Amino acid sequence: MDYFLEMNDITKLFGDFAANDHVTVRVRKGSIHAIVGENGAGKSTLMNVLYGLLKPDGGEIILRGQKVSFSSPLDSIAAGLGMIHQHFMLVPTMTVLDNIILGYTGNINLNRKASRRELEPLFESMGLDFSLFGTRLGQLPVGLQQKIEIVKALYRKAELIVFDEPTAVQTPQEIEEFFVLVKRLREEGKTLIFISHKLNEIMEISDDIILQECAL
Ligand code: ADP
Ligand code: MG
Repeated sequence: MDYFLEMNDITKLFGDFAANDHVTVRVRKGSIHAIVGENGAGKSTLMNVLYGLLKPDGGEIILRGQKVSFSSPLDSIAAGLGMIHQHFMLVPTMTVLDNIILGYTGNINLNRKASRRELEPLFESMGLDFSLFGTRLGQLPVGLQQKIEIVKALYRKAELIVFDEPTAVQTPQEIEEFFVLVKRLREEGKTLIFISHKLNEIMEISDDIILQECAL
């Protein structure tokens, strides 16, 4: 089987509490893979382990057949991962453009003009107006902020994108648009992980599903 990602036997402890207790997830290349589980089941924790935000206490991560170890999101982004967090990592007081080109190092290594030119086709494909470039992010509705997060991941050439409970902040119309987008990304060869606790959504969009059981 051609897996893009394998997380094998992952354990993540917070003190004595195992938020992830020997969890295994295998994601096929070019698929939409759903992870379902109730609140507190450890879904975000597992994704933060994948992204290099948390260090696992056990298990291994294999990406494109190679064992990897990410000590920060800088590493995972460089390896082609993108994460649309449940709680966005954007800076509300900065413009949309600066938010997209801002690196995790905190220094905007910028050539705003060149970046903008590179971003225009991406904005178009996402149905985003160019006037947004100069808008302060905090002024946008959450659904739009989420689109900016997605643009940011695509701009960094992410091949695997994780959406952590994306529909929680979306209107019904945004959810429909989002499903169209996710399917389009799959057609473009991306691999997607979609986290939700709503079964009807999962059934509509997913190729594969795993149930993340609550550790409690
Ligand atoms: P989910 O995303 O499935 O709702 P989480 O991964 O956010 O679940 O949380 C799983 C469990 O781990 C919860 O009981 C939560 O309280 C706990 N947890 C998450 N992050 C931390 C942390 N940084 N320190 C201590 N406990 C945490
Ligand atoms: Mg969560």
